[in-house]
Amino acid sequence: MNRKPSILIIYTGGTIGMQRDENGTLIPFDFNSIEREFPAVRHLNVDIDVFKMPPIDSSNMKPERWVEIAHVVRDNYAQYDGFVILHGTDTMSYTASALSFMFENLAKPVVFTGSQIPMGIMRTDGRENLITAIEIASAQRDGLPIVPEVSLYFQNRLFRANRTSKVSAEALSAFDSRNYPPLAEVGVNIEYRVANIHYPDGWGEQGYMMPAELTVNEKFDTNVIVLKLFPGISEMTLRSMLSVSGLRGVIFETFGTGNAPTAEWFLNALSDAIARGIAIVNVTQCGEGAVDMELYETGLRLKNAGVICGYDMTTEAAVTKLMSLLGLGLSQEEVSRMMALSLRGESGQ
Ligand code: ASP
Repeated sequence: MNRKPSILIIYTGGTIGMQRDENGTLIPFDFNSIEREFPAVRHLNVDIDVFKMPPIDSSNMKPERWVEIAHVVRDNYAQYDGFVILHGTDTMSYTASALSFMFENLAKPVVFTGSQIPMGIMRTDGRENLITAIEIASAQRDGLPIVPEVSLYFQNRLFRANRTSKVSAEALSAFDSRNYPPLAEVGVNIEYRVANIHYPDGWGEQGYMMPAELTVNEKFDTNVIVLKLFPGISEMTLRSMLSVSGLRGVIFETFGTGNAPTAEWFLNALSDAIARGIAIVNVTQCGEGAVDMELYETGLRLKNAGVICGYDMTTEAAVTKLMSLLGLGLSQEEVSRMMALSLRGESGQ
């Protein structure tokens, strides 16, 4: 490639964008001055532009904002080689998972990152996260991007975004992907694990043309709940949660490999909800491992009641995928079928 790669940084808010003013108060950092603040980025030999959205704490994130972020990528897709999205850590895995399901024909890197310590604080983890995210978003081999998918970079590891969860409120290594290996590991060099990266069909073969257009599925149906099972849950609690007005989907966080009580009242409450058109998806409340509804009778009963197997999906991926599929206006059968398929590498191996 003869010209420098070009990267668009999309700043959405969160701790990474903070610095202390002279009174010690945390105020938003001016990302337009990124090159002045961090001369190191000049050595990357990358053209960088910054798109600033009104900064928010990511706890205030909403599907409407996911769509706005996706539109910024779509509207600038042709002009840039890659995108870095700076985002608060609290809900980063939800936004990044949502974007992975929204994009159709993505063939350029979209790398999410953030920080646990504000950028304006000397010991910040944001500087390394940002610089490496830029390097990853601009990395090419034979003229094609090395990581053409939605990913999340944090503390020396690059993950498939829809496999991640925030696992620590304290540690600098705040994210993990327990059911899928990293896409890259960063030490002195960035070691890309290309066998773990998803490439579109025909990628790199002679005559391969990158899809020029990126389209965005922008409808989300938010009539979903996450129901975490616990010993002692009562029939009244379960039935009331499943009777929320307008409810269309449930991410059901079960025990172990997807197990739940076998009491008649329990299974009847679930089958009644399914008969009313509600999609119930079984994911495990363990941070690691998969649902297998045929291993124990306690899981098999759920399967027979019509509960959908979420395999090894994170809750973040399952919620955003279900909202997106329901938003497409699909039938209950289609939603069940597609929830069980891996659409963007979010489940299975
Ligand atoms: N509350 C912040 C946010 O998610 C935390 C962070 O950025 O790390 O926006």
